Amino acid sequence: MADDMSKESRSFTMSRIRSKGNASTEMKMVELLRKNQITGWRRQFNLPGRPDFVFPKKRLALFIDGCFWHGCPKCKLIPKTNIEYWAKKIRGNRERDKTIKKQLEQKRWTVIRIWEHQLENSQWTVRKIRKALMIQ
Ligand SMILES: [Zn+2]
Repeated sequence: MADDMSKESRSFTMSRIRSKGNASTEMKMVELLRKNQITGWRRQFNLPGRPDFVFPKKRLALFIDGCFWHGCPKCKLIPKTNIEYWAKKIRGNRERDKTIKKQLEQKRWTVIRIWEHQLENSQWTVRKIRKALMIQ
């Protein structure tokens, strides 16, 4: 992390990291899957891009994208300082997301991505996952 970050942007960053907190969004998803009796998933499955959840039998890879880190068009979380720095970083993440999707699809995996904010709409999220699992 750059040393010349202002205090302001540092606190922005830290709060984002916390709220993104892979751990907490992933736990929300685990809860959601359990509550809805969706089974057959694994975490930390060895695939390109390290999908957050993988359904090996269905060859389905599920990513949960942090709204800030992946440049969510709905939340539009834009930091007030170091805009260039963050814009570049987010662009890089998005490029990487695309590359990984291609790599997985070449291996005949289906990729679905869910924005962090969509987890709040749990019914929608569950419907999307169920649909993806049935198509297989
Ligand atoms: Zn969002």
